[in-house]
Amino acid sequence: MNLEDKGLVDPGPRETLETMGEAVAKKTGRRRTLTALGAGGLTLVILIGLFVQNRMQALAQEKRPGEGKPTLRNAYFPGTEELGPEEMRIISCGTGTPQPRLKQAAACFLVQLGNGDNLIFDMGAGSTERLASIDIPYDELDKVFIGHLHLDHAGDLPNFYFTRSVNNGTTKLRVWGPSGVKPEWGMKAAMENMKEMWGWERAMRGAIVREIELEVNEFDWTGENAIIYNENDAIVRSIPAVHGDQSVSFILEWKGMKFAFSSDTIPNKWWVKYTKGVDVSVHECFYPPEGMVERGIFSPAQALNVGTQVHTPPQGFGHVMALTRPRMAVAYHFPNDFDTVHMIRDSIREYYDGPLTMAEDFLVLNVTKDSIRVRKAVVNPDHYSVPSGRQLGAGDPASYKFHELTLTGMEPSYAAIVQKIYDEFNKKHGTDFKPIMKGSPPPVPLDR
Ligand SMILES: [Zn+2]
Ligand SMILES: [Zn+2]
Repeated sequence: MNLEDKGLVDPGPRETLETMGEAVAKKTGRRRTLTALGAGGLTLVILIGLFVQNRMQALAQEKRPGEGKPTLRNAYFPGTEELGPEEMRIISCGTGTPQPRLKQAAACFLVQLGNGDNLIFDMGAGSTERLASIDIPYDELDKVFIGHLHLDHAGDLPNFYFTRSVNNGTTKLRVWGPSGVKPEWGMKAAMENMKEMWGWERAMRGAIVREIELEVNEFDWTGENAIIYNENDAIVRSIPAVHGDQSVSFILEWKGMKFAFSSDTIPNKWWVKYTKGVDVSVHECFYPPEGMVERGIFSPAQALNVGTQVHTPPQGFGHVMALTRPRMAVAYHFPNDFDTVHMIRDSIREYYDGPLTMAEDFLVLNVTKDSIRVRKAVVNPDHYSVPSGRQLGAGDPASYKFHELTLTGMEPSYAAIVQKIYDEFNKKHGTDFKPIMKGSPPPVPLDR
């Protein structure tokens, strides 16, 4: 798969584009020669053609993985590659917008470090399916950093947390998020209220399966380059973002490499000050105001306001990347389609000519000090989250008291089938399990 042809990766430097132009020219020339020579010389021409093609491939191989150049743009198969001790892998598990669509989940970027740690930045609606499909056990996906509490950045957190137990999850989930301009709007209150809102889910699933601990780390949203995480040689800092209020961006530093993630923001002074020269700079790049009006999302006045002072327009993205010059700029938070991506990229290119990746879901960036390799993950849509191999704990069914209506609601003849399943299981495994619905009527014999 050639991501550049799809408009996903743009190398920036002219020299590379010209080289590609030459390659196209050579192919066209070869076609003309074929016609001229006729069938007699066909074999010879094919052989020459193959030689030229091999040579071109070899040249392309020699070029990769050069800084800012198109790298090996093919597939990453989850679960098949070890990370080097000083390598990080970034997988986009959501690059879209608040408008739900199958193609792009809302914001979520996973960063895997060579030390075995996985850090998730934002968890927008629809991202958990992506996270479950990339062959990493839930137990190892245990650190989530939320930039702000919009649903397209935190909407899948309840889902990810409460269904952890039925996805082989046993380890606690650790979350980091900003304080609020009012205490009741901050991360801590949000997580407490989340548990309240899903109180029955928590009590019932906790009893029948197991309850997972939730560790909440709320930090001051106004902190400037403040360390909010420091473990296993990895540091995460927060800087204020300009996106309404109480929004932050993150900078992850590990083994001398830096990954910056804007969550949502307009170009701001902290981002420009603290993300200069980072290795990978993931910054929002919103759909242009006129496009939003055309799609009927906003009125013109709303679109202009939202598209320039709540979110970053493509020109703003280009401007902020020109000011910070990362090794790789990654634009996300726009509908990445054939009829939008070139227009957005052209607007970025008015201001920025460096390495650029137009994000879509399942983009994979392998980052070392020497190279940045951009590929696309090939995932199996049938895939479930993989078991961690840890011993699964159990909840205490006695801790949940069923309502009388539920206890007595089971169809009496079905109770006999349940008992039969239990009897057969107990006999086969030498166990002595009993149905939970103790209050149900005594089983009646099966009439068959
Ligand atoms: Zn937002
Ligand atoms: Zn957003």
